Amino acid sequence: MGHGGGGRGEGVAESFADWAPGINSQRHDAPLNLYLHTPFCHHRCSFCPFFQNTTKPGFSERYAEFLCRDLEQKARWVGPSLTTRRISSVFFGGGTPSDLEAGDLARVLETLKRLYPIDTETEITVEGRIWGFSKEKAAAWRAAGANRISIGLQSTNSRLRRSMGRLADRGKIRRTLQHFVDLDFVTIVDLIYGLPNQDVASVVEDVRFLAEETGIDGLDLYALKQFPNSPLAKAVERGSIKSPADIQLRAEMFTAAAEALAQHGFEHFTPQHWRRGQRERSIYNQLAKTSADILPFGSSAGGRLGNVQISGFRTLEDYENAIEAGELGAHCITREAAPGQGFTDAIVAHIQRRMLPPLSQWPNRAAATPLLNNWREAGLIGAPCPDGLPLTPAGCFWFPHLQSLLTMWSTRIASQAA
Ligand code: SF4
Repeated sequence: MGHGGGGRGEGVAESFADWAPGINSQRHDAPLNLYLHTPFCHHRCSFCPFFQNTTKPGFSERYAEFLCRDLEQKARWVGPSLTTRRISSVFFGGGTPSDLEAGDLARVLETLKRLYPIDTETEITVEGRIWGFSKEKAAAWRAAGANRISIGLQSTNSRLRRSMGRLADRGKIRRTLQHFVDLDFVTIVDLIYGLPNQDVASVVEDVRFLAEETGIDGLDLYALKQFPNSPLAKAVERGSIKSPADIQLRAEMFTAAAEALAQHGFEHFTPQHWRRGQRERSIYNQLAKTSADILPFGSSAGGRLGNVQISGFRTLEDYENAIEAGELGAHCITREAAPGQGFTDAIVAHIQRRMLPPLSQWPNRAAATPLLNNWREAGLIGAPCPDGLPLTPAGCFWFPHLQSLLTMWSTRIASQAA
């Protein structure tokens, strides 16, 4: 799915070309991350609101060509100050970047390495799905420098997968994941819980299969979101499919999956992510949720540099026209920091480490105490430790709500103090 920013004050859209040289040089101390978006998919998954373009013969070579030109144009504009900055992570997201042909994505990777200061520590992830991800493609991308693969699996249950528009069965999943492991990719999969007709046993069986029958390094566990314009939401509305799990059942699924992951030796790393060993660092996924700098490439890719939000042109035609005209394929909006933004950023960064900030960092401890006492009594946070207030598994399940409540609280406290 595409990366986007937002959430701060209003601003005026301007050409990224006018801004790029200045903003990057002001941010030379902060690590930089690159996001390359491929808004194409073989077919649309039932739950997905992000589908944009169908992969057609010839799309790969043409789109890779525009990505390379985008990389070149932005390197020219932003380039001089880039050499002073470390690139922590590169993420090929989508859509389905794994639908790009082996040679095309490898060419984009080669262009990237030629123009940007990528080093052996840079995490380079390619996102994809099992269908269409061949051994040859994976080998070509590994040879070109990709070192992490993230697969949107959603479930390993063939019946549930078919109902979502996912075609590969368990045998194909096992074989494909093994190719990645054999190629020494850090291999990550996404699972969804709360699907129609899914039960707790099915989620636990997903964990068992992946832990015991594959060599994956990490796993994300996402609650199903029923987006209003998705085929799934329309099918539920028509009554042709059972409603997804309610909140009670989703909580049971999350808890059971978290227990199964712990039993299989996975470390609970961020609220929605588990890892098996320290090879898995999840750098991009963590930073993308904070206010870290992300330079975007591709149609409808989003990112930010400091308080400047960057948005790629949404349609392919507009994107290609902008690149042809040398206009960097993006526009940007400067946003003013909201009141209390510093503490809000600290909340988001700590939550990625399954913590709330230590009490010493709270802007108004007296006002926070009743709220935190309630959350402790409800079993959402544990006893304070030097790093902060740890989220329990229940706190991790509820973290989006905790985060948005604390953001509102922080804004209100800062406005009252102003
Ligand atoms: S592959 Fe990903 S982006 Fe494409 S339709 Fe499926 S979930 Fe959506």
